[in-house]
Amino acid sequence: MKIKEDNKLHEIQKEYDIIIGLEVHIELSTEKKLFCNCKNEFTLEPNKNVCPVCLGLPGSLPVINFQAIEYFIRFASALNCEIQNHSKFDRKNYFYPDMPKNYQISQYDLPLALKGYLFLPKANKYVYLRRIHLEEDTGKSIHIGGDNLREAHWTLLNYNRAGVPLIEIVTEPVINSPEEAVEFLYLLRLTALYTKISDVKMEEGSLRCDANISLKPKDFQTLGTKVEIKNINSFRFLYRALVYEIERQYNLLKQGKEIIQETRGWDEKTQTTYSMRSKEESHDYRYFPEPDLLPLNISKDIINNLSFKNQTPIDFYISYLKHNLTHEEILFLLDSQELNDLYNQVVNLVQNYAFNNNFNSYKEVVKFFKTDLAYLLNENLINIADLSIKNIAKIIILLVNKEINTVNLKDHLINLVKKGTDIDNYLENNNLIIREDINLVKEIVDKVIRDNPQAVKDYKEGKEKAISFLIGQAMKEIKSKAKPETVKNIILNKLANL
Ligand code: ADP
Ligand code: ZN
Ligand code: MG
Repeated sequence: MKIKEDNKLHEIQKEYDIIIGLEVHIELSTEKKLFCNCKNEFTLEPNKNVCPVCLGLPGSLPVINFQAIEYFIRFASALNCEIQNHSKFDRKNYFYPDMPKNYQISQYDLPLALKGYLFLPKANKYVYLRRIHLEEDTGKSIHIGGDNLREAHWTLLNYNRAGVPLIEIVTEPVINSPEEAVEFLYLLRLTALYTKISDVKMEEGSLRCDANISLKPKDFQTLGTKVEIKNINSFRFLYRALVYEIERQYNLLKQGKEIIQETRGWDEKTQTTYSMRSKEESHDYRYFPEPDLLPLNISKDIINNLSFKNQTPIDFYISYLKHNLTHEEILFLLDSQELNDLYNQVVNLVQNYAFNNNFNSYKEVVKFFKTDLAYLLNENLINIADLSIKNIAKIIILLVNKEINTVNLKDHLINLVKKGTDIDNYLENNNLIIREDINLVKEIVDKVIRDNPQAVKDYKEGKEKAISFLIGQAMKEIKSKAKPETVKNIILNKLANL
């Protein structure tokens, strides 16, 4: 998620405030759909998981899946929302072929949660939520011979997704740059992962985002006309589409032209947004209470029990800042909950082992994770679950104290870090612990100096590099009998006295 700063935006921001509000849909990974017993799964076989309820057949009745309520409460509480004891479902009426009931069961005036916010540590600001509620997803239309229902020759319908539980999150228009929008969406995604409510895969559509954007002259009190960018399916796309749209709106305003309220799409090929439809007469969805479902009454105790009480990704982020980790290091850890757990366990042990430490144990652990361990994990040479916390902590301490022979460490790393390896034995048997034998080092150094007169001459003539060569030659024989530093000092000493 590395994104470069855009200089042109800084210019625009001198004259205008960038105003962005995001609308996000997250598909819950419950076992069943929201109102029926159909499996909630991602499958390539069309219309496999359907029944009279999610097909909207006459006479069928919805029943609330309590697991979806649990997931919702967990997620909304992690977003600092006020979970409501009393709420209800409403019908949102409109016609579209992928919605067989001709209404969507959603929540209108009494959603299950109110308020809420997400703190953005990098931007150092709160993004407040305008609303958050639970609703059902629609099916999927596949248009053939055109881009939409009107133009297509054929439209295929797949109802596997119809009735899948969705959480809709709408922010206030308080996001002020593409970077902030990306940070918000990224942390929202992590929150869904850490609360284990969804797999939040943008490419598979379990995390979907629409972005609303407008520009406001600095001295204006009211917001400008907004444009909505639809169907954003990656962070890069969100960033690029916003940058493009800001520049497009800026150029129009500069020419004294009006911004048309419209919905735009993103064209990956040309890296531009294009108009999909302009301001439709505002929809009248004729919301009314869903008559086939009782209102939801959930006791304070149940809400309390279901609320997320662990550390959120943002809590972790803030505590890692106190550990002096950089933004990049923090995101590296947070990106996988498993890796983040492992990090916290290893840090604890390292601090136990080295209680009077004068090194930043957090940094050292991250360093080991980002270099040695990341290689093993990225290459799928080992799973996080198969790693030994104790062994990793031990290696990090040895590395910090320069007590481990790093020359051949790479070849042994996988054995060293995996569960079941008796680390002390392994280090011993493979000569990996450095035990200094100064007399031996002096002998070897003497020999190396004798055998390499050219390097000695080079060094004397000021070629600093020659010293590394000599150290290398000596280490070949010294192996685990001295730290490279010790060898360097002895060589320097000898050379000075030549
Ligand atoms: P609509 O009725 O068109 O759906 P909403 O008021 O529900 O509009 O807002 C939808 C989203 O658009 C919200 O995320 C909100 O923060 C954002 N938004 C509203 N007005 C503006 C604006 N002028 N500029 C940018 N974003 C806006
Ligand atoms: Zn069903
Ligand atoms: Mg709206």
